[in-house]
Amino acid sequence: MASSSSIHVAVVGTGIVGAAAAHFLAAAGARVTLLDASGPAAGATGASDGAVSVASKRPGPMMDLARHARAFYARCERDGLFRGLFHRRSTFLVARTAIEAELVAQHGADLAAAGERVVEISRTALLDRIPGLGASVCAALEIPDDGHALGYEITERLLRTSRVGIRRNAPVSEIVMRAGRLAGVAIRDELLAADAVLVAAGIGSAALLGLGEILIPRKGQMVVTDRSSAAGPAIDGHLMAASYLAAKRGIVRDNAHIGLVVDPLMTGQFLIGGSREDHRSDHATDAATVAAILRDALDLYPPLSGRRVLRSFAGVRTASRDGLPIVGLHPHREGVVIATGFEGDGICLGPFMGASAARLLLGEKPETDLSALSPQRFARVEAHA
Ligand SMILES: Cc1cc2nc3c(=O)[nH]c(=O)nc-3n(C[C@H](O)[C@H](O)[C@H](O)COP(=O)(O)OP(=O)(O)OC[C@H]3O[C@@H](n4cnc5c(N)ncnc54)[C@H](O)[C@@H]3O)c2cc1C
Repeated sequence: MASSSSIHVAVVGTGIVGAAAAHFLAAAGARVTLLDASGPAAGATGASDGAVSVASKRPGPMMDLARHARAFYARCERDGLFRGLFHRRSTFLVARTAIEAELVAQHGADLAAAGERVVEISRTALLDRIPGLGASVCAALEIPDDGHALGYEITERLLRTSRVGIRRNAPVSEIVMRAGRLAGVAIRDELLAADAVLVAAGIGSAALLGLGEILIPRKGQMVVTDRSSAAGPAIDGHLMAASYLAAKRGIVRDNAHIGLVVDPLMTGQFLIGGSREDHRSDHATDAATVAAILRDALDLYPPLSGRRVLRSFAGVRTASRDGLPIVGLHPHREGVVIATGFEGDGICLGPFMGASAARLLLGEKPETDLSALSPQRFARVEAHA
């Protein structure tokens, strides 16, 4: 591959992953063109919560990666890049039945085994921290080292600090190969020549890479309340119900399932979610789902009954068949790197994964082993080469 000072990289997708890759590529001296069918943060990045959470991850590669990714946020915050945008706060994993308590305890053991700090907290101690907590909460763990960042704010910061050219309304329809070599990308009738291409197009990556059977859209509906506090988060941590862990650990797969989180934002508002609706890529919200989310949230944290609901919204997560992101070199198209499939974890993983993709594009080794995420694991990718 050409040296970073002469290489031209086309980055397809201006979500948090594409923006991070573009930022770090430009910092290394590469010429970068960012292309988006719509505009920055138009996909999941602009319609999500922002838990930078290890607590929520499945044991195995996801938990390990999230620990690296959260440390990367902290590093970028210290360096000034994410100053004022990344906030540390605890995650409370809460159980409301005996079976849920077992699940929370198992998850806590998995987190501790991965090296994460896990603190047992009694109902009484939790009530001191979160007054008004629901009567059904019977067990909880605190994960003190988690954080929060808004995806669209991180994306905007990454773009503003990198002076990368962005082309909006530029839908890429094809990665163009000529005589077995990468020529560039097709945007309508135009060929944009490029030495390397990053596909970070969220659910749009499915059509571009022929991964329609491997990447699944998973809609999530969420609710935003008014401010409960004028001075920062209204409660002292992020409430994550065992129902959320059950979904993340693959114990429940049901489009009607609510994986409940009650997230206190820096604005003093609450962000409450959410549904997990497979094969749904529309952005509609519906009263039945919103009502189910609110009913569950009121059981967990009854003081929400005093809040006004300002709006509901839906975003579309990109899930892979095996639940792991797809990050790595395209198996058969030299010069093409893939970074997609971040499901409900891309705000947490996005900056680190974008930086890792940038390194791959420059022919360098990523900071951590990404072999579990390799596109090679899907035969279908090879079939579409
Ligand atoms: C309801 C909800 C809650 C979430 N909560 C969290 C959370 O708390 N913590 C967390 O870590 N993650 C969370 N996520 C997940 C997170 O939002 C995503 O994983 C992340 O935003 C994915 O970023 P991305 O850059 O890969 O894709 P996207 O943000 O989807 O960006 C893809 C971009 O590519 C563009 N594009 C698509 N196709 C093409 C094409 N052919 N040509 C050009 N451009 C194209 C799109 O317009 C879009 O701008 C949540 C997601 C949802 C929906």
